[in-house]
Amino acid sequence: APGGNVRVVVRARGFLPRELERGADCLIKMNPTTQATTLLVPNDTDPASTRSKTRKVIEEKIFTFDNSFWSHNKEDEHYAHQEDVYNCLGEEFLDHNFEGYHTCIFAYGQTGSGKSYTMMGTPDQPGLIPRTCEDLFQRIEEAHIETPNISYNVRVSYFEVYNEHVRDLLVPIQPNQAPYYLKIRESPTEGPYIKDLTDTPVKNISEIMRYMKMGDASRTTASTKMNDTSSRSHAVFTIMLKQIHHDMETDETTERMARIRLVDLAGSERAKATEATGARLREGSNINKSLTTLGRVIAALADPKQHRTGKRNKDVVPYRDSILTWLLKDSLGGNSKTAMIACIAPSDYDETLSTLRYADQAKRIRTRAVVNQDHVS
Ligand code: ADP
Ligand code: MG
Repeated sequence: APGGNVRVVVRARGFLPRELERGADCLIKMNPTTQATTLLVPNDTDPASTRSKTRKVIEEKIFTFDNSFWSHNKEDEHYAHQEDVYNCLGEEFLDHNFEGYHTCIFAYGQTGSGKSYTMMGTPDQPGLIPRTCEDLFQRIEEAHIETPNISYNVRVSYFEVYNEHVRDLLVPIQPNQAPYYLKIRESPTEGPYIKDLTDTPVKNISEIMRYMKMGDASRTTASTKMNDTSSRSHAVFTIMLKQIHHDMETDETTERMARIRLVDLAGSERAKATEATGARLREGSNINKSLTTLGRVIAALADPKQHRTGKRNKDVVPYRDSILTWLLKDSLGGNSKTAMIACIAPSDYDETLSTLRYADQAKRIRTRAVVNQDHVS
């Protein structure tokens, strides 16, 4: 319903080979009934610690979210597969889009916690983005038969924000050529937008999947060239869905626009690295201004003072302090239904605690989404 909170879910992944090798402990529990996530506090919080006789749990920290997805061990009856995450969150958000609402789903968490796995997935285990695309075109095909007076128009764009620069992921990288960056402009009616960003029409599932893969490959190629930038960049996949409804009796045409944003954020350990290296920041090594600002925007939006006055002071929410928050202003406490997926690694105490606290704060944000409908004639 309009005015509802941001939907916040958490997902715990399984052990990676390197964690199994060192005999890492699982510090997370999830309760399938209450959807609570519990973080076990060991007496020794060094992530390199292994199971030992002297290591014991001294405290439990409990957090409650809208959903806690247990993707730690497949043998568990409550194991959350990619499909379960889609059915629980992606499908509902696509329902909102067909009702004419903008939506935005963020994946947050440290590098290696499962953000890309959750958003993009693998060819065998597709994540939220390919599942959303597939479901979208399936619904359009079905609607074609059931409601022939509605026509659909789908466009897609894919960009990344790296070191406060915007790069178009749908423009192939030329070998031996420096990447080129796009500028941001602000329109009085549409708000901030990226000038000259590729925004391409797509007619079917295979077309959209081709662009999705092209952009993903571009992100990976750049990442390999520039020393794993994927942990430092934010990838934003956007689908614009337009529904054109023609009323045969009144001859009236109405349009509904919905923007679907699916965001794979930079590794959250970057936010702390930025704070810790204030001196280096001044030297121009801006590790991740967008991520730290996102944290400040969420903190400002979660501040109860903002709710009491009913009016948001534009100066208090620092949207304009970073590229990502400026571009996604509408998706954060604006006219959008928003979800955050907090991804956590099972044995990394400090990073997991910081991710759970961040997600806990995001729960307090209120959004005010309204249907985007226009009478054309
Ligand atoms: P991030 O994008 O947060 O850096 P990845 O999505 O790349 O992390 O995940 C790190 C590794 O863990 C990858 O090898 C990925 O396939 C694996 N992984 C993450 N989440 C899951 C999961 N739920 N089930 C199985 N493997 C996972
Ligand atoms: Mg990733």
